[in-house]
Parts: sequence; C-alpha cells; structure tokens
Amino acid sequence: MRYLVLSDVHANIQALEAVLGVVPAGAFDRVLVLGDLVGYGADPNAVVDRVRALDPLLVIRGNHDRVACGIDEPLEFNVMARQAAVWTFRALTAGNRDYLRALPAGPRFVGARLEVCHGSPVDEDEYLFDTTDAAGAFEHVDRPVCLFGHTHLPVAFVRGRRRLSAVLPDGGDTMALTFEPDTLYLINPGSVGQPRDGDARAAFALLDDEVGEVQLKRVPYSIDEARRAILDAGLPPALAHRLAAGR
Ligand code: ZN
Repeated sequence: MRYLVLSDVHANIQALEAVLGVVPAGAFDRVLVLGDLVGYGADPNAVVDRVRALDPLLVIRGNHDRVACGIDEPLEFNVMARQAAVWTFRALTAGNRDYLRALPAGPRFVGARLEVCHGSPVDEDEYLFDTTDAAGAFEHVDRPVCLFGHTHLPVAFVRGRRRLSAVLPDGGDTMALTFEPDTLYLINPGSVGQPRDGDARAAFALLDDEVGEVQLKRVPYSIDEARRAILDAGLPPALAHRLAAGR
C-alpha cells in the first residue's frame, strides 16, 4: 500500500492545500494522519473538513486536538498555545468538535509493517527529539516502521544491528530512504502547517510499504495568506510570524 502521511497540520489550510496540490492523485492509495489537525492556525474547520474528505485510512489524535475538542484542559500549554486552543474550541463547529473527540489515541497498527503514533509509541505526548529519545522508543515498537509527529521536525531514526542513527533532510525537495532488513525505523514526516526545522515549506511523506521506501518531502505554500488569516482571526501575532521562519 502507498500512503500519503500528514502530521501537525495545525489548522493551516494553505499549507494543506499546497501538499495536496503537489501530490498526484495516483501517487498514493490511502492517507494517514498523525494528529494535531488543529491549534495555532486560523482555519480549523476547513482543515478538518478537508482531511475528512480525503477518507483517511487512519487519523489519530494529537495533544492539540484533545484540547481543542474539550477532552483536556490546556494546562501544559504555553500562553500562546492556550490562547489558540481557546479560540479553536470556540471556532470549531459542533460536528468537527465531535469528530476530533472521537479520534483514537496512538499507537495504532497499520498492517504488518507499520504503526503510527503522535508523540511516541509509549506516550502520545512524549517528544522524540534525538537518538537518545529514539533509543527508548525503539524498545516499544511492534512494527519495523513507526511513524510519529509532535516535534514538527522531519527525521528518520534508524536502528540497525549495530548502531542507531538519525537521518535528516538535506534541504532539498525530497529525501528518499529505502527500508533495509533487520532494521527498525522511527520516522517523522515533519509538520504540514507549522514546520520548526528552519525550513518554512510544508513537510509531509509518501510511504510505500510494499516497495519498502519512504520519501520525506517539502513544498512551498502561501505563507503570507496563512499569516494574514492568523492576524485577521485575532490569534497571537507570534503564531503568524513564526511561519516564515519555520521555527
Ligand atoms: Zn503539533
């Protein structure tokens, strides 16, 4: 099966449309979404509607989704994230709030070779930043390839027989990785709607679990439009300005 993998869209409809616009319809069979559809951005309903229209095989919830639909209080959020969460809760339609409330928590298995989670396979709120974090997470994976999000940083952690390494995108449009036997992978496609690796372009992945290959991809989008929408909505201006910096 060939999957389009989306994570951390964060209510950025401009970025989501750019991703969907650049991927040919025949390039994937099903869509996987790793959580945080909303929060931070100005178009939560448009993003949830668009994701639902894709008829994804699986959408798991992120921490922002939990808060935006009222499952959790934003107690651990910083001031900006909390303001955005309150705004998002009010902005969401009742139907979209119900949709977010019904999303399952990760980890979830997808066939025999894949599993997906928001933060880590142990804890949906855990951040996997580096190889030390990844080493712990590898002890808890049940499939050769585990997809995760939450950090907004695209990376592939690779654990072979002898060593564990982090493979990072080199700034190009595509980083392709072929899966080797006897090797485990923890792969973050990066964030569609609020990248934080210094590259402002929307990030996503295409994964083929039969061929055994993943491509981490980037596409430019109209950051100006997304910024303007955030400012017009009365959300914290810093959430608009960070998009151009990709931080
Ligand atoms: Zn996120």
